Amino acid sequence: APDVVTFGETMAALRAGGALRLGGSLGLSIAGAESNVAIGLARLGHRVRWAGRVGADELGALVLRTLRAENIDVGHAVTDDTGRPTGLLLTEPRLGTLTRVSYYRAGSAGSAVSPADVLPTLTPGTRVLHLTGITPALSPSAAEAAVAAATAAREAGITVCLDVNYRSRLWTADRARTALRPLLARTDLLIASEDELSPALEQPAADESEGVRRLLDEGVTEVVIKRGARGATAYTAHETADCAARMVDAVDLVGAGDAFVAGYLSGHLEGSTVPARLHRAVTTAAFAVATRGDWEGLPTRDELGLLDEPDGTTIR
Ligand code: ATP
Repeated sequence: APDVVTFGETMAALRAGGALRLGGSLGLSIAGAESNVAIGLARLGHRVRWAGRVGADELGALVLRTLRAENIDVGHAVTDDTGRPTGLLLTEPRLGTLTRVSYYRAGSAGSAVSPADVLPTLTPGTRVLHLTGITPALSPSAAEAAVAAATAAREAGITVCLDVNYRSRLWTADRARTALRPLLARTDLLIASEDELSPALEQPAADESEGVRRLLDEGVTEVVIKRGARGATAYTAHETADCAARMVDAVDLVGAGDAFVAGYLSGHLEGSTVPARLHRAVTTAAFAVATRGDWEGLPTRDELGLLDEPDGTTIR
């Protein structure tokens, strides 16, 4: 059985070297919040299953082949046979680490994921189901899939992890708030950035600690708030732990949040303390920040210690 099951939309990603409107060459890869987490966990040696829909096209084959090559079980992934294409995104570096992303995902195969696609993935022995708030924004059937999976996981005693991942391009904060309620009611571990706490709350909170307290009272057992270069804080009913970010030269911030989730879940699976989970999370996130690509630079287990080596070290 897998340690972690996750699903969501994974797209083909075309990365430009400069402004898209100037043309030039592009590098082809894949991107998706949940598959980024899956890759991060698999590289650390955890057993991971990714589900979702891809188009019956070459880009869908690229998605599945890439995930398979990263040791992820894609046996439950569905290839759409109704002509919906694999989604696509294009990224262009504009200024330093400021990146612009354009999406071509409306009507994609990934957005057509349904409860029937994902319910069979939660096989006995699964320990964690990881979801993001992107999935319910994609389509009614995707929203149903997220709630159905969270409900089934809860019933089976599987820990439900939700990364709010609010995307203003996909929906409004009000629509997100409404759609996230049934998911939050089934969430054990909630991960959000500072500005994503509000869409996770039914009513506005005076400050972060009040908002977090409310979520803990509603049944979430652990709330983790990401603060970019300022690190992160984890709250449980019994403790609050802060962790600074690792000092690295930022090259590409995209994927930092997903890498963080992979590190945090890895610590969770190992039964680490809350501070140790945070330490693993800021470490995997630092790899994402210090390398190009959403997931390409994520560390294997052997590489976790590389950030402790002095700058300029040659490994022989
Ligand atoms: P994204 O959605 O763009 O992937 P996010 O908004 O979900 O990111 P952030 O809070 O920006 O998440 O970053 C997640 C984690 O990445 C932070 O908690 C921190 O550990 C690490 N991180 C982010 N920026 C930096 C940085 N400049 N230097 C070092 N670590 C960073």
